[in-house]
Amino acid sequence: MCWIEGDRVRIEINIDDCMSSGKCVADHPSAFDFDEDELAMLIDDGRALSDEQMLRVARNCPSRAIVLYDDDGNQIPT
Ligand code: SF4
Repeated sequence: MCWIEGDRVRIEINIDDCMSSGKCVADHPSAFDFDEDELAMLIDDGRALSDEQMLRVARNCPSRAIVLYDDDGNQIPT
């Protein structure tokens, strides 16, 4: 599924909002890890994730700390 046709999606983590649930790390260990403070961090800018996986992981974050942006820097509603 290409839900933002033609755009490249950028994924970011708002560290201030991360509650260290580990959901993203458990679901996608190739794209997320914990930093030394046990907060989520991206591996290689989340390149291992498809657009659909980015959308799902953002929606599944319990603290809504994972946000997506389109090529123009606009936040994508999740
Ligand atoms: S799913 Fe959200 S709250 Fe949980 S570790 Fe990842 S970014 Fe943090």
